[in-house]
Amino acid sequence: MAISGARNSRLGGLGQWWGVIAAAVLITAWINKAAGPASVAALSALVLIWCFFQAPVTCAAPVRGRADGCRNNATGLLLGCHIRQHRWQKLKMLLLRRQLRAFFSGLFSDGKAALVTLAAIGSFLSGLATFVPGVIVK
Ligand SMILES: [Zn+2]
Repeated sequence: MAISGARNSRLGGLGQWWGVIAAAVLITAWINKAAGPASVAALSALVLIWCFFQAPVTCAAPVRGRADGCRNNATGLLLGCHIRQHRWQKLKMLLLRRQLRAFFSGLFSDGKAALVTLAAIGSFLSGLATFVPGVIVK
């Protein structure tokens, strides 16, 4: 039940957003075209991992009696907050088709989540483009 104090320090708060810096570097790499496909792919993977497992977003797991779901801080779009049950609930939402829509609407529930979701989509596409040439330009 204990929440580690180290992660709540002022430095830790800023450090949580390293994925945004990685995303900015990724965009620069795309614009400059100086970076090779290997470094673009590596950056894409880094940003994707951050979005899924590290990004500071809201848990948003369904909670009885609350339309907007759990408001606890979570780490990553795929993981819930410190309540273990919520992690399972979010995984279950991905697997059950009728709850998938609720999961995706949760991805855009607030500005932070939308930013992280867009970063995830962008880095996924950019990673895909490096592995499959011509997937973007048809
Ligand atoms: Zn939660």
